[in-house]
Amino acid sequence: MSEMQQILEAIQTGASGDDIANLALPETYRAAVVRKDEQEMWAGYESADKDPRQSLHIDDVPLPELAPDEAVVAVMASSINFNTVWTSIFEPLPTFGFLSRLGKESVWGKRHDLPYHIVGSDAAGVILRTGSAVRKWKPGDKVTVHCNYLDDQDPSAHDDSMLADNQRIWGFESNFGGLAELTVVKANQLMPKPRHLSWEESAVNALCNSTSYRMIVSQHAAGMKQGDAVLVWGAAGGIGGYAVQYVLNGGGTPVGVVSSEQKADMLRAMGCEHVINRKEAGYQFWKDEHTQDESEWRRLGKDIRGLIGRDVDIVFEHPGRQTFGASVFAVARGGKVVTCAATSGYMIEYDNRHLWMKLKSIVSSHFANYKEAWAANQLICEGKIQPMLSKTFTLEQTGEAAYQVHKNMHEGKLGVLCLAPEENLGIDDPEFRAEVGEDKITVAKRFA
Ligand code: NAP
Repeated sequence: MSEMQQILEAIQTGASGDDIANLALPETYRAAVVRKDEQEMWAGYESADKDPRQSLHIDDVPLPELAPDEAVVAVMASSINFNTVWTSIFEPLPTFGFLSRLGKESVWGKRHDLPYHIVGSDAAGVILRTGSAVRKWKPGDKVTVHCNYLDDQDPSAHDDSMLADNQRIWGFESNFGGLAELTVVKANQLMPKPRHLSWEESAVNALCNSTSYRMIVSQHAAGMKQGDAVLVWGAAGGIGGYAVQYVLNGGGTPVGVVSSEQKADMLRAMGCEHVINRKEAGYQFWKDEHTQDESEWRRLGKDIRGLIGRDVDIVFEHPGRQTFGASVFAVARGGKVVTCAATSGYMIEYDNRHLWMKLKSIVSSHFANYKEAWAANQLICEGKIQPMLSKTFTLEQTGEAAYQVHKNMHEGKLGVLCLAPEENLGIDDPEFRAEVGEDKITVAKRFA
């Protein structure tokens, strides 16, 4: 039996932490990578024509040496995030530049500067080894991994760690990401796995759930109050699906925007009563490439008022160029547009008169610090926030899964089985699962 098979068998048979600590680690493992010598492969192509199925490969890669503050995790499942789409289409920049900068920072950083980039910023699995400086975790612990990767010896990392000079996103701006059989992560990325969820349900949350928690709940971003109304773009997508849940959980009123009736039905099943189908509404916020149409912004505002009788206090913004002008217009006087992305283009235009005359603000947000990620994970563990898993792929199908996210063919989150041989494994607390409710936990799956 290969070392990897022994690891899998130990996990599946519930071997003790000591037994797991004594297992031999393989020298190589399978991982989803992009290759440096292919980073120009899409030169001259439009974004929409770049195909992750061609640039993402499943290669055998060597296991890197473990630093004292790190852990080796056997990845049972991972997920597709939009950053893997960006990496695989080499936009807005090839990620090899990030790896080379990290490589110059330290001896341990040097390991990351390789001719391949192992992608993936989510994982659920089991710790196999810990470095000598790791205190709170041990082999055998079942974990999820958040993607805030930083050097905590830098003073700038000690207020809000998202403000650290050296803050990076694991598996995007660092190597050895989660779309692989094994991963090497810092101990301060580890969080407990929710006991009532399967491996793939546990794996899809950390990046999107933590991002939405910070954007909606945290005082670092919108700091939503009870009773606030929130417009959520892409409300049945990755971050949007968690955002809707945070609005509902916090006593707010979500207005979810989606592009299909199927997604609208999913939102209603999640308890989001007010839904706008943007395809059906046919908004044309841009008349042409250079000119926005204020009457279309007004139409959106009117549609929102038609649903909830007033303007929204917060807009959860991430499509960027296509929607940003409308978001700034539609948010209430004194309201906040909180933004973390620009999927449709990052050169943004809005009418500043609507911003300053009505004392609105634009708040930027990016992932989450450890405390925020931990709080968001805790809410999943308590069954108060549900995983947005809609479909599950194998590691070999990573390119196809990333393609579906790139083409907006998906709902919620796409999971990827790495070492887990099939779906629905890893549920340790079926009683609590039943208490939370199968229907709630699998809501995105039911509408996929
Ligand atoms: P996703 O699962 O693809 O969801 C995005 C949703 O946005 C889609 O479901 C789509 O919904 C909607 N959308 C796409 N294009 C749009 C457009 N032109 N106008 C209006 N809506 C549009 O992706 P995600 O995981 O939620 O991520 C969304 C963005 O946030 C990505 O750019 C990602 O890189 C970024 N992000 C940033 C952070 C951070 O920490 N800064 C963290 C996570 C994600 P409908 O078609 O149904 O409307």
